[in-house]
Amino acid sequence: MRKIDMIVVHCSGSRCNHPYTVEQLRHDHVEVNGWFDIGYHYYITREGKVHECRPVERMGAHARGANANSIGICYEGGLDANGCIADTRTAAQKDAMFWLIINLHRRFPDIKVILGHRDLPGVQKACPCFDATKLQPLLEV
Ligand SMILES: [Zn+2]
Repeated sequence: MRKIDMIVVHCSGSRCNHPYTVEQLRHDHVEVNGWFDIGYHYYITREGKVHECRPVERMGAHARGANANSIGICYEGGLDANGCIADTRTAAQKDAMFWLIINLHRRFPDIKVILGHRDLPGVQKACPCFDATKLQPLLEV
């Protein structure tokens, strides 16, 4: 089993008024990028459903330099209706994300850090379009 000590949060970079389903995500990662599966371990769609994408035992493909020891969680959204960067998480998505993190921490007590993709060194993106370091207290629950 690989060592997991970090959660990296992402957004899909899609507009909140345009659905981006897990099927579309899979198509883009497998057919377009040529990966064997979705790069994230979990994908949370707007209605708050958590889709298990890649088994956590397997390394993800979501955060250059941090894949080996992290779990990648992505939520659907990140852009408002005009295509501007925004925290578009619905209440259901926030709730699902909180519970997912708490459960992952129970399963992997070595998790010490939660951050957003943009908080990793050398990342020029706005992903996940909110301050994911604010989720850090969930590890103290
Ligand atoms: Zn990202």
